[in-house]
Amino acid sequence: MTTRKCAKCNSKFEVRRRYPNQLYCSMKCKTRVQSKSYYDKHKDKKAFKLKAKANFDQWRKKNREHFNDLCREKTKLWARKKRAERKAQGLCVYCGNEILNKKASKYHCISCLDKHRIMNRAWKARKLKEQKNQ
Ligand SMILES: [Zn+2]
Ligand SMILES: [Zn+2]
Repeated sequence: MTTRKCAKCNSKFEVRRRYPNQLYCSMKCKTRVQSKSYYDKHKDKKAFKLKAKANFDQWRKKNREHFNDLCREKTKLWARKKRAERKAQGLCVYCGNEILNKKASKYHCISCLDKHRIMNRAWKARKLKEQKNQ
């Protein structure tokens, strides 16, 4: 019995007598290579791009909530990280500029401070409303 290395994943497999020219260990590897080469061949064609985009749009429509969650979660994480970085460096957590007047606010520059106050007020109002509705 001969063994051969899979052309895709490099794992060893036994060559069966019925398929002496087999290159891949499994159907999975074979399909992967084929769809990759199909993609490479067609990726620059306009029709293919349009179709791929249409597929994606359809998928996104079907999974809108899931997709939104994905984006939201990423943005949230990114914003949180950025905020922590800026806080650690003593920069304005909104715009990343240097804070010249630390007495006014530790975490916001003067031009962002108003924005922060307005947002804070809106947030508090929303909280109050939520508490009332409970
Ligand atoms: Zn394989
Ligand atoms: Zn700022």
